[in-house]
Amino acid sequence: MKKIGFIGLGIMGKPMSKNLLKAGYELVVFDHNGKVVEEVVQAGAQAASSSKEVAEKSEVIITMLPNSPHVKEVVLGANGVLEGAKKGSIVIDMSSIAPLVSREIGEKLAAQGIRFIDAPVSGGEPKAIDGTLSIMVGGSQADFDESLPILKCMGASAVLCGDIGAGNVTKLANQIIVAVNIAAMSEALTLATKAGVDPDSVYQAIRGGLAGSTVLDAKAPLVMARKFDPGFRINLHIKDLNNIMETGHEVGVPLPLSASVMEMMQALKVDGHGDKDHGGLALYYEKLANV
Ligand code: NAD
Repeated sequence: MKKIGFIGLGIMGKPMSKNLLKAGYELVVFDHNGKVVEEVVQAGAQAASSSKEVAEKSEVIITMLPNSPHVKEVVLGANGVLEGAKKGSIVIDMSSIAPLVSREIGEKLAAQGIRFIDAPVSGGEPKAIDGTLSIMVGGSQADFDESLPILKCMGASAVLCGDIGAGNVTKLANQIIVAVNIAAMSEALTLATKAGVDPDSVYQAIRGGLAGSTVLDAKAPLVMARKFDPGFRINLHIKDLNNIMETGHEVGVPLPLSASVMEMMQALKVDGHGDKDHGGLALYYEKLANV
């Protein structure tokens, strides 16, 4: 079995790395946050003191970091993966980042004989814990095939969507649908509440019909229970919406719904809610409607 390095043990990376340990892989890990490293070491991993050391000790290096600058720093920066990785090793970036940055990283690694795929995920913390994430991949068929057994330890599905960057284009598409669905759900439940109808009755009545969705089932019960712990931070969804708008401008696609939801999330961030779950979009509507 290949020795795997894992960098970024946050809300998603921690359970994903634990699933690799459960599957029997030997794991070397690194994160700035010593507390999460300790927890994964308790589960059987070995700690490294830098991303470079992770790469030196692994054949496959997985990164699960917030955004493009973090991945660039960890992979290409001082004491980073590129300085330590052996020729022929594979870097699998599972973070959600800008597709252009994935391509840039892929090119710089390829120039040193290191392979790269982008493999962002959907499903959030519950599916990261269960190992049932949906994984969207960009890269060569050969690198995808070789990575598949590892990806399958973390996900229920892994689909090759195209060359390097295609995984992150797919993830941006996913994030448009999720953001707009959460906004629609918040708008609908706020209307029902203000019109005097119990939102839970509305949810139970509509969830089996055309308005039913994975987003509605995942988020409506949490909103009604006033549970806004992340999950997926509003700040991270703003990051994705920024990458969505940038990509839309690059390729010439107007994105009016994404722009609106981004401004709603931005208003919540300014109001001090950036570290709440993106289901907290309901708070924006409740404030507008004085619920
Ligand atoms: P997080 O902020 O909880 O975790 C990020 C981790 O990276 C932290 O532990 C942080 O200490 C570490 N880190 C940051 N910079 C580092 C560096 N230079 N070196 C070492 N470690 C560093 O974020 P998360 O929620 O786990 O999300 C990670 C990625 O997955 C993001 O791109 C996010 O958009 C995506 N994602 C998240 C969810 C979700 O529900 N949380 C779902 C799907 C995709």
